[in-house]
Amino acid sequence: MNTPNFSELGLSEPVLRALDDCGYTQPTPIQQAAIPIIMDGDDLIASAQTGTGKTAAFTLPLIDDIATRPAGKGDTPLVLILTPTRELALQIDENVKAYGKYTGIRTCVVLGGVPSGPQIDLLRRGVDIVIATPGRLIDLVEQGEMVLDDVEFLILDEADRMLDMGFSPDVRWIADRVPTPRQTLLFSATISSGIKSLASTVQTEARTVSVAPPASVADNIDQQVMFVRKADKIDLLINLLNRKKGGRFLVFTGTKIGAIQVARQLQNHGIKASAIHSNKSQVQRQQALAAFSKGKVRVLVATDIMARGIDVEDISHVVNYDLPNDAENYIHRIGRTARAGRAGVALSLCGIEDIPQLRGVERLVARSLDVQDDHRWHSTRVAACLTASTKAARSRARSGKARGSGSKWRR
Ligand code: AMP
Repeated sequence: MNTPNFSELGLSEPVLRALDDCGYTQPTPIQQAAIPIIMDGDDLIASAQTGTGKTAAFTLPLIDDIATRPAGKGDTPLVLILTPTRELALQIDENVKAYGKYTGIRTCVVLGGVPSGPQIDLLRRGVDIVIATPGRLIDLVEQGEMVLDDVEFLILDEADRMLDMGFSPDVRWIADRVPTPRQTLLFSATISSGIKSLASTVQTEARTVSVAPPASVADNIDQQVMFVRKADKIDLLINLLNRKKGGRFLVFTGTKIGAIQVARQLQNHGIKASAIHSNKSQVQRQQALAAFSKGKVRVLVATDIMARGIDVEDISHVVNYDLPNDAENYIHRIGRTARAGRAGVALSLCGIEDIPQLRGVERLVARSLDVQDDHRWHSTRVAACLTASTKAARSRARSGKARGSGSKWRR
C-alpha cells in the first residue's frame, strides 16, 4: 500500500514548510488515519499512545483549517485542547508553535500552579488555540476571562489519564459549555468503558481509529552500555570504529551542534562521517542519507528529530552518544538496526549526566543493558553513580509503598 505524504493529505504550503523544518518526511500511521477524518469534519475517537505522533495528528489539520480561513482571525479561541498535565500542555504548545510557525497562529497555555495574570493578558490580546489543564480553565471561564462561545474544535488529549486523575466532572463541565455543533476529537491510549461513556456524552457519531503502540525492542538487538566520562566519549567512539572495520554506524546525539561536532571529529580522524540536522536543506539531507545507504559514508550522526525518516538497511550499530531525554526515543533509535531479521548492536555511552535517562530506558525496556567495561575509558565513578541512584530509587519506592501513599491520582 502506498503511504501518502503530508501534501497528499491536503495540508497547505505553510504547514508543509514547517514540517520540512521539523525534519518530518512521512506521516506516522496515526497521522495517516486521523488527518483525513479530521479534515472531513467528523468527530474522532483515536486510540494512540505517546510516541506515535498523535499530537501532530490532531494539531496539523486544525492549524491548517484556521490558517487558511479567508475571514481572518477573531479574538476568542476556535480550538480548545484539554490535557491532563502541565508538561503535556507545554509540549503541545511547543509543537503547535513549530507546526504553525509560518501561519501566524496564536496560542495560549492555560494551566494552574502559576499566576493567572499573564494567561489572562494573552487571552485578552486574542488567541486561536488554547491548550489547557481543566482546573485553571474552569477558573478563567467562571471569571469571564476565557470565552468558549466561538470554540469549534474541542480536543481531549490523553483522555484516559484525565479520567484516572479524576477530571471527568471537569471535562464534562467544560464540554457542556463548548457550543454545538462542534468537532470533538478524543485521543486516548486505552479505550475503556469510562472513555466510551465520556465519548457518548460529548461526541456525535464519532469515527474511530486505532494504531499499535510504539514498537517494542526486537530480540535480535544486543543492547549494551559503556560507562564513560563525557570528555572521553569521542575517543571511545573513534577507538570502537577503528577496531570494527566493517559495519554501518548510526550515532545519535542530543543536539544538532553535538551532531555536527561529533561528525567533524570523526572526519578529522579519517573516518567517513556526516551529520544530518535541520539546518541542512532537504536536498543536503537526502544526499547524506544516500551516501550513507550506499556505504560511501560509514557513520551518520543524527538527532532524534532527524532520525524518523532514516530507513537504511544494514545498520550494524546504533550508538547513543547521548542518551535520549525521552525513553521512547531509545526504542525508535535502536529500531534502526537489526532490520529484516538481521542482528544488530545498540550501544549507549553513558556519562554521569546520562544516568537518569539510562534508568528511564531500563525501566521502559524492563531490563538492564549489558555493561561493557572492557575498554580503557571505563569509568567506575559513573558505574557507581548508577548503582547509588538505582538503590535510592528502590528505597524511595519501598518507603512509598510502606506508607501506602502510592500516587495520589490513582484510584
Ligand atoms: P507524540 O506521540 O505526539 O508525543 O510524538 C512523538 C514524537 O514524534 C515527537 O517528538 C514528534 O516531534 C515526533 N513526530 C511526530 N510526527 C512525526 C513525523 N511524521 N515524522 C517524524 N517525527 C514525528
